[in-house]
Amino acid sequence: MNRTIELVKTIYEIKQLETFEEPQIALAGRSNVGKSSLVNRLAGRKQLAKISSKPGKTRSLNYYKVNPDGYFLVDLPGYGYAKCSKTERDKWAKLIERYITTAEQLKAVVVLLDSRIPPQKIDLELTSYLRSMGIPVIPVLTKADKPKQRDLAKLQGQWKDILQHDRLPLAFSSKTGRGEEKLWDILGEYAR
Ligand code: GDP
Repeated sequence: MNRTIELVKTIYEIKQLETFEEPQIALAGRSNVGKSSLVNRLAGRKQLAKISSKPGKTRSLNYYKVNPDGYFLVDLPGYGYAKCSKTERDKWAKLIERYITTAEQLKAVVVLLDSRIPPQKIDLELTSYLRSMGIPVIPVLTKADKPKQRDLAKLQGQWKDILQHDRLPLAFSSKTGRGEEKLWDILGEYAR
């Protein structure tokens, strides 16, 4: 299908949060996990979302409309950047929490996980928080072109166990396009 992704709104503060009628799927992940690259890959464009060589720079929440399907992908600010202040981190946590607790049309959260590293505490905290809120987690292992395939398979198994899911997390690469079609299918399933 010929899909387009259009940036509809960018916000920086809780008070700017808006309610949309359309189904929404949020994208979350530690900064530098490859979230902007994934959005650009899905958009088929190099520059829709800013790719940062400096991690921790993007602090905004971006609403993208997926056409012609009509649902939103909501790009949440990257978290867990070690060098940012506690105030900054608290601000992030509050914005995310408010978004998650108020977005009535939120269907699922895609949690991006770096395929080169073992499960991180902050990712476990987010996934268990979402679980406690009854929000489905769609785990996606990014940069899947990087690790040895044996290590990748092992990590997929680990995440499957942690999340108590029936299927393995999706291996995705913005570089090669691996997992892209599958991700569209999964998003479509949840956005219905
Ligand atoms: P964000 O901070 O989560 O938005 O991450 P970015 O999309 O800015 O990516 C962080 C870094 O990882 C950049 O240097 C990207 O070029 C690199 N990167 C992102 N996705 C991939 C991927 O699929 N494969 C490889 N090899 N590198 C990637």
